[in-house]
Amino acid sequence: MRKIIIAIDGFSACGKSTTAKEAAKALGYRYIDSGAMYRAVTYYFLEHHVALANPKEVAKALSEIKITFNINAKGVSETFLNASNVEKKIRKMRISENVSQVSAIKEVRVAMVDQQRKLGKERGIVMDGRDIGTVVFPDAELKIFLTADILVRAFRRQQELLEKNEMVEFDAIVANLKKRDEIDSTRAESPLVKASEAIEIDTTNVTIDEQVDELLRLTFSSMLTSSKN
Ligand code: C5P
Repeated sequence: MRKIIIAIDGFSACGKSTTAKEAAKALGYRYIDSGAMYRAVTYYFLEHHVALANPKEVAKALSEIKITFNINAKGVSETFLNASNVEKKIRKMRISENVSQVSAIKEVRVAMVDQQRKLGKERGIVMDGRDIGTVVFPDAELKIFLTADILVRAFRRQQELLEKNEMVEFDAIVANLKKRDEIDSTRAESPLVKASEAIEIDTTNVTIDEQVDELLRLTFSSMLTSSKN
């Protein structure tokens, strides 16, 4: 059957990456976490004290950055920045607190979108993010938009951080998610909006297994439609 592109967008901590990863595994597709790319850029900018308001510094830093993904021994995709594994570092609160400011910069988005489109050339990918169905792959055969109650999202994010031995106050997580939602949805460059043809799924009361099942059901139906066309 013809391989398709599945674009999953939505707010932070709605279960996008977990659902996308599981669905990609079941389909034999490649999973790309576009948020990890913006997080890796943010990590580099912080480490190198790049002044966000200085276009020359931003351009120079972007020219020095190469982001790749490698599958580890457990079959899990990990993010590499200039050949060094940054998967754990980019998930820290320090990065979450700065990433939306970095990803609002036009030059950063142009560089990342270019790389993301190259990764999707062969199709057969599931990519999650904020602008995948609207900007990166407007021709994606299946577009999903995930939402969930803010408190449920914060609880899920707190659990993820705890699993990585980072204890963050619940209120601080709620504040960070709200701030990122606000910056991501109101920025001038490709803001987070639901693509008109995207299917919206509210994951507040849905388990990961149920989300994955629903995504696979929608995928097979999209595959059938796209094979007929
Ligand atoms: O998905 P995740 O929460 O890890 O994304 C981190 C941040 O990266 C988002 O809050 C957003 O600012 C940015 N992002 C983006 N466009 C994407 C993916 C992520 O601007 N496609």
